[in-house]
Amino acid sequence: MLGAPGVGKGTQAKKLEEDYSIPQISTGDILRDAVKNHTELGVKAKRYMEEGKLVPDDLMIDLMRERLKSDDAANGYILDGFPRTISQAEALEKMLDEVDSPIDSVIEITVDYEDLVRRIVNRRVCPACGSNYNLIDKPPRPDGSCAKCGERVIQRPDDNEETARTRLEVYDEQTKPLRSYYSSSGLLRQVDGEGSIEEVSASIKEVLQISSSLT
Ligand code: AMP
Repeated sequence: MLGAPGVGKGTQAKKLEEDYSIPQISTGDILRDAVKNHTELGVKAKRYMEEGKLVPDDLMIDLMRERLKSDDAANGYILDGFPRTISQAEALEKMLDEVDSPIDSVIEITVDYEDLVRRIVNRRVCPACGSNYNLIDKPPRPDGSCAKCGERVIQRPDDNEETARTRLEVYDEQTKPLRSYYSSSGLLRQVDGEGSIEEVSASIKEVLQISSSLT
């Protein structure tokens, strides 16, 4: 899944996870867990995440190399938040070539810039089950708890307006070049992210069906 912060990658990846029974692999979630548990990776990543900057490529590539070896990834997976740089994309391609299991599709969700900032600052997440909420169109329960597991939802520390704008700049500079990278290899499918969660999900499934019928 490709797309700017706040575009809905996580929400849509979770829907695909349920519908296709393959795991969502979110590097942001893995890093947030690492920070929470004070692991070596978490200690190294924390500062970059708080500033809205990217964690260095070598750390991310090692993390992904290990994650993709897990049993649950044997039948496929949805990558959410990786790759985020051309170096990461090249390393991923090499890793997947080695196991002869190339990427099927790259879905890019697109949304207007100001809408992204609005979505990011209104986002709330459940720290227990990872469910995503939005104060505008998908609020948690009125008492601020998660509709799925009852835990109190929180705002991510990097979801304030200033860090959101830095993350969007970083996205433009370092991640947007992946659009032409995957477009030239014929894998890129773009989906308008402005509709409801269900509408965007339907568009994603449509493009996935088209791309699987082409291969
Ligand atoms: P996300 O939840 O995908 O918005 O990621 C939250 C933060 O984790 C980002 O702002 C980065 O600091 C870091 N991060 C997540 N994925 C990557 C990646 N592939 N490369 C570098 N940093 C990442």
